[in-house]
Amino acid sequence: MSIQLLKRYMDEQKQESFKLDKIIMLVRYMRNKGLVYSESIMKALSMDSNELEELLKFAKEKRIIKAEISYECDDENYKASIIEATCLYCDETIEKHDFDYMFALEEDFVTELEVMRQEILNLLCDEKSLKNLNGLKNELEHSVFFIGSGISLPIGIPDWRGLIGDFLDKITNSDDREYVTKILSDNGDILKAVDILIDKGYQEKSEEFKRDVINYIQEKVTNGVDRARVHCYDELIDLNQTFIFTTNYDKLLMYYAVKKNIYLEEKLLSDINSMQDFMHSKTGCIINLHGTTNNERHMILSTDDYENFYGDRDNLEKLSIMLNTKFFVFVGFSFKDKYFRDLYKKIQKFSSNRHYIIDFNKHEYDIKDFEDDNLRVINLKTHALTAFEDAYTDALKVILRYLNNTHEVEYYCLEKYIIHKIE
Ligand SMILES: [Zn+2]
Repeated sequence: MSIQLLKRYMDEQKQESFKLDKIIMLVRYMRNKGLVYSESIMKALSMDSNELEELLKFAKEKRIIKAEISYECDDENYKASIIEATCLYCDETIEKHDFDYMFALEEDFVTELEVMRQEILNLLCDEKSLKNLNGLKNELEHSVFFIGSGISLPIGIPDWRGLIGDFLDKITNSDDREYVTKILSDNGDILKAVDILIDKGYQEKSEEFKRDVINYIQEKVTNGVDRARVHCYDELIDLNQTFIFTTNYDKLLMYYAVKKNIYLEEKLLSDINSMQDFMHSKTGCIINLHGTTNNERHMILSTDDYENFYGDRDNLEKLSIMLNTKFFVFVGFSFKDKYFRDLYKKIQKFSSNRHYIIDFNKHEYDIKDFEDDNLRVINLKTHALTAFEDAYTDALKVILRYLNNTHEVEYYCLEKYIIHKIE
């Protein structure tokens, strides 16, 4: 982190923390703008003139912005730094002319922002990951994000392992229960655990289990959406992707899109009749690969469900078209899902398309495995983010913001560091 910059902010925070969000708004607006009149700033930040004057004065004192005077003489425009100066054309002082102040960000401040951005990227990514990240940034319009349970974890919705763990008391026989517990703790075959749970806990009534899962997730969603302080849904939606695939049953992507007044369609793979039309659609669309809590009939949950879904020729064909024409970006998706992995490998055998995976703290052997599967790995080293609150989510937020707009990551770091230090 650019220490100078942070220190300067931190010292200010003690007295003037109320200005923080305003400063970030100001920097965000003025970045890459060149000289701007105070009136346009006032409009962009929807402030009254007193409030703006105070903010500009503060930002000027802290060498975040600089002011210049623009004045008119004999129908020509000139610039000056102080109003006491003499006109470049006549002999009068500038005060005697029609003049107005203009503002720009200080070059040193912009340099500090750039240093901070590069530093955080270098902390998170090694050279190869950074290269892949920039590759993805260039190919973003041809990419499709594929979101797994890791994205919903911060809201409080567990992955499969956690979910089944919470249903264990449904299994009354202690031997059976211990057996499933062992599968979970050994990182074993999760679908086998689901099947046993349905057999022994629900007397093979899988629809009943699905209804319980729906209630369970809906309750977690209700309790989690406002409590969750950090999650990546806003960043994902801001990427403005036409297609987002997810294996999550929760409807959180939709929830946060609605909150942002963004319209997205929700589809199951079976809702797509013509891939040709679908690929050309302009409306943003979430493909709920494994169904949602809306309808238990379409939830892919047991081994039978998986076999039916992934064994279906039609589904295979649709996924194959997507995987052959777009770059998938796997996020919060462990790639351990056996059925998806097998299908992916089957498709990749005949494809040279290289996809992306964003993951955390992977060992070089894990990375090699991913690369063997035609995946370009963006491996984020989260141990660098000790000052942050939830290192995984924060690392992901930084990366997603960077993909969206190079400068967004700067504002995020400013915000995070300052908020963290105040609390
Ligand atoms: Zn003059």
